[in-house]
Amino acid sequence: MKKRVCVIYTGGTIGMTRTEYGYAPKKDFIRTALSEIKELDSEEMPDYDLVEYDPLLDSSNIAVSHWIQLAEDIEKAYHQYDGFIILHGTDTMAYTASALSFMLKGISKPVILTGSQIPLCEIRNDGRDNIIAAFMIAANYDIPEICLYFGNKLFRGNRATKISSDDLIAFDSPNYPPLAEVGVRIDLNKDNILAPGKDLEVIKFQNHQIAVLKIFPGIQFEVFENIMTSNLKGIVIEAFGAGNIPEGGRALENILNKAIENQTIVVVCTQCLKGSAIIGQYETSKGLFEAGAISGYDMTVEAAITKLYYLFSLNYDIDTIKKLMVTDLRGELSRR
Ligand code: ASP
Repeated sequence: MKKRVCVIYTGGTIGMTRTEYGYAPKKDFIRTALSEIKELDSEEMPDYDLVEYDPLLDSSNIAVSHWIQLAEDIEKAYHQYDGFIILHGTDTMAYTASALSFMLKGISKPVILTGSQIPLCEIRNDGRDNIIAAFMIAANYDIPEICLYFGNKLFRGNRATKISSDDLIAFDSPNYPPLAEVGVRIDLNKDNILAPGKDLEVIKFQNHQIAVLKIFPGIQFEVFENIMTSNLKGIVIEAFGAGNIPEGGRALENILNKAIENQTIVVVCTQCLKGSAIIGQYETSKGLFEAGAISGYDMTVEAAITKLYYLFSLNYDIDTIKKLMVTDLRGELSRR
């Protein structure tokens, strides 16, 4: 029997058209554009229903409330479809994919996010191929994960990150192999795919205060002291290399002391594209270690941020959150 997928268009370049001020999403355009992709009518393709969000967003404007809307819409329609395709802007696609991976617990159907760097309204565009492949994968393969398809590769969503603002290969998954590669054939890397869940449970994020601090040489930590309030639940530090930060003296000590006082969770990720942040490997991570910071290991910053939202939304105590942050929950972290 022909499969049926639900396509949700949230906005993003793929369905944008030219305006006086640059590209912007246009209501109803995606419906026409999809109907003009004749390959989607083929027997090999699933039937689809299209849901177009209102307003359509440039994905720079995506916020927690939109992640909740997506999770709720998928939950409502879950039993009617064999899979979901989310057409989304590329700028924050990896964040949305990570967020959904935590919110949609126990998923047993594919949810594939895709989009494009060049809109479908242009003669030469990457949107068409991305859509065709996403449809084909959703129709023919059982991948019970939140995935991101782009530039001939299907990635685990919470491992993907945007690596280029203008190449058509815009995403990569530096710390985890692709789930599928699309060439002459569609090659599925079965061993890398998660087992299906039993029942879908949607955990809605609450809007907690989370911050990200990127370390750079010469950083004056006192600039950031004022953000360390008791409202700040978690902070992801993008450290150098394997989790190192400059010595930082009193100002850094003040920040870390405030984190301890306010029970703010400090997660250390690496600003390298590939590899892990492991506190304690070098002496330069001593301050972080003493302040009870935790290693983000090989999680992307997108995954670390959304995982903090997730765990705080479950109202766990601090020790449980710290423990779960370093535990693999949805394939976001390599087992150690
Ligand atoms: N600014 C756009 C967005 O993220 C870029 C894109 O879709 O490629 O919505």
